[in-house]
Amino acid sequence: MAEYVIIGGGVYGSGVAYWLSQNGADVRLLEAKRIGNGASAGPGRRGTRANGRDLRELPLVRLAHEIWPTLHEHLEVPQFFERTGHLLLIEREQDIALCEARALLQNQYGTETHVLGAGQVHEMEPGLSQNIIGALHCPLDGASDHTAVTEAFANAARRAGAEISENTVAQRLEINGGRVDAVVTSNGERIEVGKRLFILANAGVNALVCDRVSLPIWSRTFQVLLTKPMQSKPFKHLMGHASRTLALKSEPDNRIMISGGLPGVWNAETERGTALEASISANLADAISVYPDLAAAEIEVADADHLESSAIDNIPIIDRVSGVDNALYAAGWCGHGWAIAPPLTQMLVEWALTDTRPALLAPFSQDRFGAVN
Ligand SMILES: Cc1cc2nc3c(=O)[nH]c(=O)nc-3n(C[C@H](O)[C@H](O)[C@H](O)COP(=O)(O)OP(=O)(O)OC[C@H]3O[C@@H](n4cnc5c(N)ncnc54)[C@H](O)[C@@H]3O)c2cc1C
Repeated sequence: MAEYVIIGGGVYGSGVAYWLSQNGADVRLLEAKRIGNGASAGPGRRGTRANGRDLRELPLVRLAHEIWPTLHEHLEVPQFFERTGHLLLIEREQDIALCEARALLQNQYGTETHVLGAGQVHEMEPGLSQNIIGALHCPLDGASDHTAVTEAFANAARRAGAEISENTVAQRLEINGGRVDAVVTSNGERIEVGKRLFILANAGVNALVCDRVSLPIWSRTFQVLLTKPMQSKPFKHLMGHASRTLALKSEPDNRIMISGGLPGVWNAETERGTALEASISANLADAISVYPDLAAAEIEVADADHLESSAIDNIPIIDRVSGVDNALYAAGWCGHGWAIAPPLTQMLVEWALTDTRPALLAPFSQDRFGAVN
């Protein structure tokens, strides 16, 4: 028995375990494999980015920008966040007006954002192709080491007294009279839920809640390429692109992470993903067309092993399980869940402790889809 039971040991489960245990709560976290196994793991780093985000997530990003630079101090580990700034590169005249509208919106939500002309962007990143005619610049954006952060949350939660059980699959929920009484694991252990259950299993959420609610979410993998180290760091900023499926990050060891959201193929039996040759070539070709020096880069890793859940309207679903008073779930991050995890995990804990949904979470309610069972 634990007061608070958490299913999932990614950044969300580990973060909630940490903030809860800081409040002196009795916490048990169940992770099917190991801490930092799903979307919160894998090569490279994750972007903490306001640029291009759905407007309903912008208030969360403003808070995230405040928390990320000092989060490592709370977790008592070396710095894992780098404030690089983000450039959303513009290559087509027709994208300038859209970026101007984005800048207006992001500034209104309290996140400093500028539209740069060609001269300014080439001065900031001299190696960019001359095809780049401008950029949307968000100076507060950056990148963090996702594996280090997830492990740091879990380790700090352990130090504060949380029990973390790896290799423990939550198989089903025992629900009686509108509350979850217990979680039953695949090895038959029955773990009683004293107060609240958090279902933070990302791609595993649907299987646990589908008896109660049908959610318009599904799971997919994203391809990540990592080059061998370049001779020097070719660029400083985190970069995205207004019209290509492309994201570029310069890693601390001069490797380049090339991604952006091209899908891999998932094998449900082996629970492994495969990057597609055509997508690898397409991603690399886009990277070279934006940053010509990458023609010399050699791809060392092509990874598609980390399953992420997506929601039909491109923002997460964060709510109580229908008809179950003491169970909260969150899923459907759509490849954007990392940056907002620090404030969101705090809000999930606030919701559990006060029994009141924080106002900033209202847009992520399942009610937005109308009648769900
Ligand atoms: C390649 C890639 C790049 C990304 N880039 C960015 C980015 O740049 N910026 C950004 O903001 N976001 C990004 N994201 C998204 C972000 O990483 C995710 O949204 C976030 O990590 C989700 O965290 P999570 O804890 O919900 O899920 P996960 O990290 O997937 O953790 C869920 C855990 O639950 C466990 N689990 C599942 N079912 C069960 C069960 N029945 N019992 C027990 N445990 C279970 C799994 O083993 C897993 O460890 C990216 C995602 C991917 C895959």
